[in-house]
Amino acid sequence: MIRTFVGLGSNLGDREAQIRRAVDELAKLPRTTMAHVSSLYDTDPVGDIEQPPFLNAVAWLETQLTPRELLWNLLLIEQRLGRVRAQKWGPRTIDLDILFYGVSIVEEADLVVPHPEAHQRAFVLAPLAELDPDFVHPVTKLSIGKMLRRLKTDRAVRKGGRIWT
Ligand code: AMP
Repeated sequence: MIRTFVGLGSNLGDREAQIRRAVDELAKLPRTTMAHVSSLYDTDPVGDIEQPPFLNAVAWLETQLTPRELLWNLLLIEQRLGRVRAQKWGPRTIDLDILFYGVSIVEEADLVVPHPEAHQRAFVLAPLAELDPDFVHPVTKLSIGKMLRRLKTDRAVRKGGRIWT
């Protein structure tokens, strides 16, 4: 089994319900078990597009799926949850990203792991730090906890209620 972290985000409609549904779907993936899910974080949007705040969380999965099989499954879940892709960086009902896949490094046209922005986003690092602060980023070689402490300029993240225990 490979330890993998999947980022979840939603900023359209009932954000919490969509994150919950996505977590339920992740828990049902073949050859995969769900280890933990972080708290929910309310996050100001990054980038130039005017849009509502996101709700973000990170799920820790143990899987035998390959990175590509996992990606296909995430895209299927996004479709099933009715993701609308209007603008590349715009609002979305649900966004699922492979943040880390063990210590593997994947650099292909349509799949880059670790996720290229993972190490500089508080809404990724803060929930990850809850799950596994000592996990070491295979490219930066820094732990999640250390990268989170080094962040200077990211937007605010606010921790919401824990919804899974
Ligand atoms: P977006 O939903 O706008 O973040 O982009 C989704 C696309 O990003 C997918 O169709 C993937 O092909 C591509 N992609 C590249 N790397 C990753 C990753 N680590 N996790 C999820 N999607 C990825």
